This record gives sequence, structure tokens and C-alpha cells, in this order.
Amino acid sequence: MICPYRSGEDSGTTIEVRNLEFVYENGFRVFTNVNLTAGEKQFVSIVGPSGVGKSTLLRLIGGFLKPTSGEVYLEGRRILRPTPRVILVHQSIVTFPWMTALENVMLALKPKRMSKEEAREVARQALERVGLQGFEDLYPKEMSGGMRQRVAVARALAADPAVLLMDEPFAHLDELTAEGLRQDIYNILFSEDNPLRSVIMVSHNLTEVLELSDRIYVVNGSPATIVATVDVRMPRPRSPRNPEFDRYLDLLYGYLTRERR
Ligand code: ADP
Repeated sequence: MICPYRSGEDSGTTIEVRNLEFVYENGFRVFTNVNLTAGEKQFVSIVGPSGVGKSTLLRLIGGFLKPTSGEVYLEGRRILRPTPRVILVHQSIVTFPWMTALENVMLALKPKRMSKEEAREVARQALERVGLQGFEDLYPKEMSGGMRQRVAVARALAADPAVLLMDEPFAHLDELTAEGLRQDIYNILFSEDNPLRSVIMVSHNLTEVLELSDRIYVVNGSPATIVATVDVRMPRPRSPRNPEFDRYLDLLYGYLTRERR
């Protein structure tokens, strides 16, 4: 799995995508010349129109799909297949209904071969981190959508990844729940006791992306490529009522609606 060529290793770069091209088996060329990076403690988002290839890009970054050409690096080492260092949290909330919150989180620890007691403790801590202390024994049907999504995040964090990939993580939640969860999530992900290094999120919700991201890559075109990179320099917590927020929204909207070619 280790490629002799190492890249970005000393510059705090966690993920580097270089010259990525991807063509599906049916010949559909989704991407050409995609280059992006995610740095230390950086929340990076990928936005683009529906069907442009955002989910495909996350699967390529996670090693679930192989690039047609180009490379993906994690901490300077080429990713050639899925690795426990990079965890994908899916759009649909995947909690197993027959398992409690704690058991759902413990599932992520199976490959780590720890004792059951140790796994219970790590899972308990992960649930505490996402604000679900005291809810360990609830089943998914007894939880709100937001709580189930917190369980999914706890499960991802319990596996101790360097990078979290999130595919529209708030899409299935009502706006009020999503807003509350968003406000918490950045603090949870980048709290001092969390060794997570970077987050890459895919979303079509520009407000959500601006609330959370340090850097935004706008993907557009067919085949798609990165048409703009926007570094968001607003202090946190960010309010959509701030006029600067509106200026960023206009900027992103412009990149998304501008015709290419
Ligand atoms: P997004 O996440 O931006 O909505 P996707 O990554 O899901 O976009 O899909 C990008 C494009 O690739 C879409 O046009 C979709 O129809 C196509 N696509 C997705 N999966 C496959 C596949 N297995 N074979 C061929 N085309 C696919």
C-alpha cells in the first residue's frame, strides 16, 4: 500500500488529490484534472450541482474507487484501497435498528481487536463527545434523526480516523435539527482531545458549507473539474446574518451558475 513517492508530507497536508481523472465503466468521464488538498485541522467542503460527481469524488478520496489516472495521498502515502484512517459517513443515516447506540458505536471497534470492556469504554467516550451521554442504551427508533446522525458521527470518531469524509451529512434532517447539529459538529470534530486531522464534506447547501468550511472547492462542468477554490476567512461561530456571509454566498453562487466552455 505504500508508494515510494511521498507527497505533501511535511507541509501539514493530510489529503492531496493530484491530477485526478475518472471514467466510469460505461465510458462516462466524470472528472478531469482535479487537484485539491486538505490540511491539518482543516474543514474542507466540495460543492457543485447535483450529478456533477461529488459523491464519486469522495469515494475516490476514500479509496473505494480507483482513479482512471492521477493519485490520492493520505499523509504523503498513496491511497490505493479503503483504509481505516479515512472514514466515510454516508448521506443516509446508517444505524442498525436492532442495536443500541452503544452497540452501534462498538461495531466500529471490531477490527481493533480490543476487549469488550475496553470497546464499551471507547464507545461510551465517543458518544459523550457527540453529546449523547446518558443515551447509550437507546435504540435508533427511540432517537430523533439528529441523535441518530450523532451516533453515526460517534461511530466514525471511535474508529480514530485521520480524515472524515461526510456525504451530505445533514441532508435528511429538518432545518432546525440540522442547524443545531452543525453548530456542534465543528467543535466536536476539532476539539483538542480529538486526533482527527481533516474533514472533507460534500454538500449542495451553500449556507451549511459557509458555516463550517475553512476552504471550499467548487466543482462544475462535464467532465467536472475544480472551477474555484474559496478560502473562508470569517471568524467562528458564523452567522448567515453577517453581511460578509452574504458576500461569500454571492461569490459561490456565481461560480456555480457560471457556464464553462
Ligand atoms: P453528485 O454526488 O454530485 O450528485 P455522483 O457522484 O453521484 O454526483 O454522480 C456523478 C455522475 O456519475 C452522475 O451523472 C451519475 O449518473 C454518474 N454515475 C454514478 N455512478 C455511476 C456508475 N456506477 N456508472 C456510470 N455512471 C455513474
